[in-house]
Amino acid sequence: MIENCTHCGLCREVCPAEKLGGRTITSLLSGGDEYSAWLCCCCQLCQEVCPEGVDIHQVMMCERRREPAPDPHRRSFENVLRYGYAFPITEDINAMRSAHGLDPVELISAEQVRLLLHCL
Ligand code: SF4
Ligand code: SF4
Repeated sequence: MIENCTHCGLCREVCPAEKLGGRTITSLLSGGDEYSAWLCCCCQLCQEVCPEGVDIHQVMMCERRREPAPDPHRRSFENVLRYGYAFPITEDINAMRSAHGLDPVELISAEQVRLLLHCL
């Protein structure tokens, strides 16, 4: 549906990443050439305002398959595969939880994570 885009720029107007000075797919759609699909936080505001019904989320996901993930994203992916969470669950985390009377975090097995990712 990207051919329906009229380059009106509305998506760029509402995009929080653009408001913070980033250039994401909404820049590309409204005529810019420098952008990164990885700056998007997937809020989908752009999609809600698009008068032409362009599926911007799908465009974003396609771009992400083409564009290598930045290091912080890669580290998050590795953490998800290893711990089942985007942040590393270390003994320090569980020690802090214990100090507040909380149970340790139950890790999700890598096999379960892979199963879930294949389902997406
Ligand atoms: S989904 Fe991404 S590109 Fe669209 S408005 Fe939100 S941050 Fe911007
Ligand atoms: S709001 Fe829709 S029509 Fe307007 S630039 Fe963005 S994708 Fe294109």
